[in-house]
Amino acid sequence: MWDTRIPRNHPRYESLMIREKLVEGFRLGIVVPEGLIAHGRGECFDYLIGEATQPFAMKAIEAAAAALILAKHPVISVNGNVAALVPREVVELARVVGAKIEVNLFYRTEERARKIKEVLLGAGAEEVLGVDDATATIPELFSERRRVSPKGIAAADVVLVPLEDGDRTEALRRIGKFVITVDLNPISRTSLTANITIVDNIVRAMPALVEAVKEMKGKDEEEVRSILEKYDNSVVISEALAHIRERLSGLASSLLGC
Ligand code: ATP
Ligand code: MG
Repeated sequence: MWDTRIPRNHPRYESLMIREKLVEGFRLGIVVPEGLIAHGRGECFDYLIGEATQPFAMKAIEAAAAALILAKHPVISVNGNVAALVPREVVELARVVGAKIEVNLFYRTEERARKIKEVLLGAGAEEVLGVDDATATIPELFSERRRVSPKGIAAADVVLVPLEDGDRTEALRRIGKFVITVDLNPISRTSLTANITIVDNIVRAMPALVEAVKEMKGKDEEEVRSILEKYDNSVVISEALAHIRERLSGLASSLLGC
């Protein structure tokens, strides 16, 4: 429906398509206005990293695949932007790693939570937690995001929380969860607090994560464990920052001759 309005040869076609999906999500009552603004912050960093999955992101994706495969109770936390951009990939990832899917919203209304659940069910999810069953709470967290499902995030050992707020990431770490995030900003509090930070656009990271899991599932457990053990999130974030620095220096000379 939306691609008729944007010419395919537009230099920012992909980026504009993502915006259209979010605007559509906003019209459907899935995405909040604050979610549109948060996307803008992400877009800026996507521009800086070069709008492609870089080697530091691939490293984090491999480690995330390993952590999800080794997890006993993995959970994928879904907010409005995630539901609008990658609903099918969320469902596919949950299927291949045996994870639960849970709706968790910063700006929570029951209606929006229900609509997001419907989107996920429509994308093929068998079960979506966090809507009628958000009866447990994450201590020391005061936003609506403290409400979680006892069968989902409350019981999880590994949680994938893409496009997350720093307060909640910190709260999840404090209660002992292993946290994986997808965040284009390598220096957000979330990026710096998570165990694994995939610095990439969620529209590229999620399909890559699904593929990595499928490939890794054929390997023996020792090999998968060693991928996770060798991973160092500080190194990966430093590589993301070095990449941006080098890319900007390169652009200064190629575009401006400086
Ligand atoms: P923090 O609370 O972790 O310090 P923040 O307050 O800067 O982060 P939030 O709005 O809390 O930002 O979180 C949203 C995060 O999601 C931002 O860091 C933003 O860069 C990132 N983001 C937005 N859209 C995308 C996207 N499509 N793919 C990946 N990351 C994204
Ligand atoms: Mg924040």
